Amino acid sequence: MSNSTNLTPKIGIMGGTFDPIHYGHLVGAEGVRDEVGLDQVIFVPTGRPPHKPGLNITNPWDRYLMTVLATASNDYFQVSSIEVERPGYSYTVDTVQSVIKMYPGTEIYFITGADAVLDILTWKNVELLLSICHIVAVTRPNYELDKLWEKLKNVLSFPQDRILSMEVPALAISSTDIRKRVHEGRTIKYLLPEPVEHYIAKHKLYKN
Ligand code: NAP
Repeated sequence: MSNSTNLTPKIGIMGGTFDPIHYGHLVGAEGVRDEVGLDQVIFVPTGRPPHKPGLNITNPWDRYLMTVLATASNDYFQVSSIEVERPGYSYTVDTVQSVIKMYPGTEIYFITGADAVLDILTWKNVELLLSICHIVAVTRPNYELDKLWEKLKNVLSFPQDRILSMEVPALAISSTDIRKRVHEGRTIKYLLPEPVEHYIAKHKLYKN
């Protein structure tokens, strides 16, 4: 598959903890794919997030398998265990560099939530990261994008168009809310794909 308007293949990397993956993530990735003309989107569940030490995060392989189940029906979507398998903390710059090695001559778009992008200035080698890929910040409804630009505008030694944003109404769904609902014994039906719902129930995730 290739986009018809640009000869350079474009690859999206959808980064997130995906604890669990839900329809907001899927609608967001598909929306960016369509809007930007991506040839494929590789979902990369975070292995060991450097910014969440000590937090109770679900086993990386459970999050990886839920992501595989959720994306199986979309021919444009793939899932990579690159961060799950890489020892140590998961840094986005390392992931993007690995993907560039696997797909030389492609244009890379790293897609993630706007709240995560807000902290991008604290990420490892951010200048290098912005020089090798575009960043797409997907936002929840009514998100104040100004916050993001305000924070970044003073440190723009990179072209401003390296960071794009897209509002995704389905991102009213959140992983935090889903975990809370499971913990409280409430329904999560229609918030995420059914196979993921079954996986959560079968493996008794988010009960404690
Ligand atoms: P997070 O802090 O768990 O999430 C922040 C917010 O963004 C949450 O509201 C979350 O909603 C949303 N979000 C996260 N990923 C999303 C996605 N792909 N699409 C839409 N919304 C998303 O963020 P995180 O998941 O740990 O990190 C996001 C990405 O940034 C990961 O790939 C991570 O590796 C990368 N990151 C890199 C560095 C670094 O290189 N130093 C540091 C921090 C983060 P949900 O909870 O509903 O997903």
